[in-house]
Amino acid sequence: MRRTLYLKLILAYIIYGIFGFIMVTTFASSMTLEHLKREKAEHLYEEATLIANTYATDLYNNQVSLDSVQKQLDALDTYLGATIWIINPSGRFILDSSQPINIDEERTVENFDSTITLGSYYTTGDFFGSFNEEMLSVYAPITTDFTVKGYVVIHISMKSLQESREALLSISYLLLILLFLLSLIILLFFTEFVYLPIKKITEATEHYAAGDMDYELSVDSDDELGYQAAVLSYMAHRVATAEDDQKKFVANVSHDFRSPLTSIRGYLEAMIDGTIPPEMHEKYLKVVLNETDRLTKLTNGLLSLNNLSTKGMILEKSIFDINTIIKNVVESFEGTLHRKKISIDLVLTGEELLVEADLDKIQQVLYNLLDNAIKFSYQDSVIKIETTEKKNKVFVSVKDSGIGIPKDSLKLIWDRFYKTDLSRGKDKKGTGLGLAITKEIIKAHQENINVISTEGVGTEFIFSLPVFDDDEM
Ligand code: ATP
Ligand code: MG
Repeated sequence: MRRTLYLKLILAYIIYGIFGFIMVTTFASSMTLEHLKREKAEHLYEEATLIANTYATDLYNNQVSLDSVQKQLDALDTYLGATIWIINPSGRFILDSSQPINIDEERTVENFDSTITLGSYYTTGDFFGSFNEEMLSVYAPITTDFTVKGYVVIHISMKSLQESREALLSISYLLLILLFLLSLIILLFFTEFVYLPIKKITEATEHYAAGDMDYELSVDSDDELGYQAAVLSYMAHRVATAEDDQKKFVANVSHDFRSPLTSIRGYLEAMIDGTIPPEMHEKYLKVVLNETDRLTKLTNGLLSLNNLSTKGMILEKSIFDINTIIKNVVESFEGTLHRKKISIDLVLTGEELLVEADLDKIQQVLYNLLDNAIKFSYQDSVIKIETTEKKNKVFVSVKDSGIGIPKDSLKLIWDRFYKTDLSRGKDKKGTGLGLAITKEIIKAHQENINVISTEGVGTEFIFSLPVFDDDEM
């Protein structure tokens, strides 16, 4: 595509030049000649009429001699660059400005017919075979007493007209060449503003198609092509980062699966070859069980993340009391809470607080947030869970006084597999998927989740849910 577009334009340009040339050589040429002929004929006709009405009439009325008229005509002949005749209606010569009078030799124009001009006052050709070249001939009748006594005929060689035409045409050719050169400006503009950007875009698409997504495409213009280039490079960038994310994701998944598998294998081998004595087996089998728990959790997390992002917005919404759900989730952590001596402070708004959302998924959100709060809290601390209602929204807050999240990590905790360095010591089982899942769920509800945290002081997660409004029914 790259070369042909330019070739096509050059071709159009050449065709334009050729047509211009043909126009000048045909139309312009014939029109110019026609115009010159008519103009000359008009001028000569005036002269012919003048001669017919003066010298020629006088001659026929015998008021002047043939000689003196001949002299007059000779002078005019030179002035006009023409041959002037006076002939009878039969075609017989009375006078010829190009030849001296010869009374002895009688000359006639054979087959002379005064109607040859067909209503016009001039004709072109050899004038009844009198000339060897093409002539423009004009004639005017000589009339006395309402009868035609003869004609004044003025001939001029077409050569001089053709020469004038050539002179005029050469001006046209010059103009044509100038115009052609000027239209090169269009070609230059096209090259600079259309062809080169398209060439760049084409090259970039070839690179992108070949998988080189980092190829730099920049077209410096704010027109349609500039916009197109910007969109294309943006898309390439998106594809490139998506690819990177994909690779990172696979690397993370592999890593997270490998470490529990390696430790399981290590313990089992040690038991088989006797490094771990049989009386210790129970202890290490518990470790192995723990590791398999972690693998199960990881698999489940990945599955639900995958479902969320592929199914996207498909939520099974129902109307439920968020306060009850919170109490249920807290109950399921009873054992852990007791062990860690952590107490829960519930500050719930109203007897019941109806929301419209996907119950299972919101339960999972609460589970994830409370799980984190407990994991990262110190012993003997309090976790506060609060619900508030404001402007048709219910806000649920889970606030702990635990290790907190460093400022730099605040944005990253929503990424899949991300865990802060602080938390690694406290929680070895975590997959780093909990908050990613949480965020996806809240996003699917078109609601928001935010975090406020101070390292070493504590963390608060707040998310919103749509209030179920009775009035709507
Ligand atoms: P999983 O939830 O799969 O068990 P996880 O808890 O490590 O693993 P997330 O719930 O996604 O993963 O949390 C990501 C990271 O954010 C945690 O590892 C921890 O570093 C930090 N974090 C989350 N909640 C808290 C909190 N309440 N206090 C301090 N740090 C937190
Ligand atoms: Mg978690």
